[in-house]
Amino acid sequence: MPYQTINPFNNKLIKEYQTHNDQQVEEALSAAHALYKSDWGQGDIKQRVNVLHKLSELMASRIDELAEVISVEMGKLIGQSRGEVQICADIAKFYAEKAEEFLKPVPYKSDLGEAWVEHHPIGVILAVEPWNFPFYQLMRVLAPNLASGNSVVVKHASIVPHCAETFEKLVTEAGAPKGAYTNLFISQDQVSAIIDDDRVQGVALTGSEKAGAVVASRAASKLKKSTLELGGNDVFAVLDDADIDKAAKAGAQARVSNAGQVCTAAKRFIIHEKVADEFLKKFTEHFKALKIGDPLDKSTTLGPLSSADAVKTLSKQVDDAVKHGAKLHFGGKKVADNPGNFFEPTILTHITRDNPAYFEEFFGPVAQVYVVKNDEELVKLANDSHYGLGGSLFTTDLTRARKLASQIETGMVYVNSPTDTAAELPFGGVKRSGFGRELSDLGIKEFVNQKLVVLAAKS
Ligand code: NAP
Repeated sequence: MPYQTINPFNNKLIKEYQTHNDQQVEEALSAAHALYKSDWGQGDIKQRVNVLHKLSELMASRIDELAEVISVEMGKLIGQSRGEVQICADIAKFYAEKAEEFLKPVPYKSDLGEAWVEHHPIGVILAVEPWNFPFYQLMRVLAPNLASGNSVVVKHASIVPHCAETFEKLVTEAGAPKGAYTNLFISQDQVSAIIDDDRVQGVALTGSEKAGAVVASRAASKLKKSTLELGGNDVFAVLDDADIDKAAKAGAQARVSNAGQVCTAAKRFIIHEKVADEFLKKFTEHFKALKIGDPLDKSTTLGPLSSADAVKTLSKQVDDAVKHGAKLHFGGKKVADNPGNFFEPTILTHITRDNPAYFEEFFGPVAQVYVVKNDEELVKLANDSHYGLGGSLFTTDLTRARKLASQIETGMVYVNSPTDTAAELPFGGVKRSGFGRELSDLGIKEFVNQKLVVLAAKS
């Protein structure tokens, strides 16, 4: 794939980027490995967290400039791009402040003697990342690994090279030495060769099931650890006692944020039959009110999809769903007479289990609405999914909410809020949504040697 910036608002090519050859990949791995072995990787954590402090300050001080890079390259609304830059600054600050505490030795009680677990870096980590949060995804891997002493090499998505390059420059400007973080514009074959390299000890991938399966199986064949953050088909459940105004507004926003291209976006709306008509009416009104336009214009509320291919894929999915019996309640096609990658906000109803749409992730502003009779049916439908990433429940009965939240088979559940993210909260899924966690204390433990030391008890 060529590494190109094409503005999704008008499909104009802005810039094509030079790819890295095998010699450059070797230089990157060599620098990364040498740094991990040096006093930088093995020594005092303070030198490394100081870089994260500086990176956080840099990003926070350049929100406008960095947000525009995101919006022009992948079409995110400018306000949402600003939010993405801010959360990156938050994540860098969080690990700058907390990493030392997370990595300190943990004592274990044992009859064998005095025992504790230490946390050590393991080497070079390869990150393979998607375009939909082009800075945030990078920061989720960089911050914990920089703090722990691992070096990171990155293959970013080919449609966001400007973001990839900009992020690397920021990390360097924050004071990270050569080898700490290296962006590589490389092919899938080069990704495989990096995974095979003995200096590489782990692989973190965020993306599709297909890429996850290829990359994780390659890593497994070399007995290396991987973490996978994959797709989702998240449930947005509205119970009969919910505040419907609030649920309809939050649900619409949760479906169209980032033009619907969020792994944890609300995708399957499961509504209690007593409130289904009211919800659907109000939800549709929110969709009708969306203003399609330039992501840089603050009044726009629905931007373009990231690429022309994304529009083709989504159009085909919607057409197939309808062919298999789904009803098109609203929208349903590419926005006509527009050079950009715009897709109408769309609502599908009457999707049966034999419809391919039932199990598919729709990566765009397309909502599937299901109606259920009771909580038991709700849980059954929610769990009848290949994915298990996040989910939301709207209800005023918090006892009922706690019970249902425990029954839903996902990595994350939010009550009376769309699925969200914060530096201090673990992020990740189960089933085909992947394995491992990013962010929080759990994220930093994924790629460290949790080494047991025992001082034997005197006999
Ligand atoms: P994708 O096609 O899998 O791409 C993700 C990354 O993997 C890109 O850098 C891509 O490079 C690379 N890649 C693809 N195939 C590869 C292979 N065979 N070998 C090595 N690298 C490969 O995913 P996408 O469609 O762009 O992203 C959307 C998906 O990501 C959705 O399913 C979404 O739900 C998921 N996602 C999950 C999370 C999470 O945290 N769980 C967060 C965001 C997105 P190229 O660009 O060069 O193809």
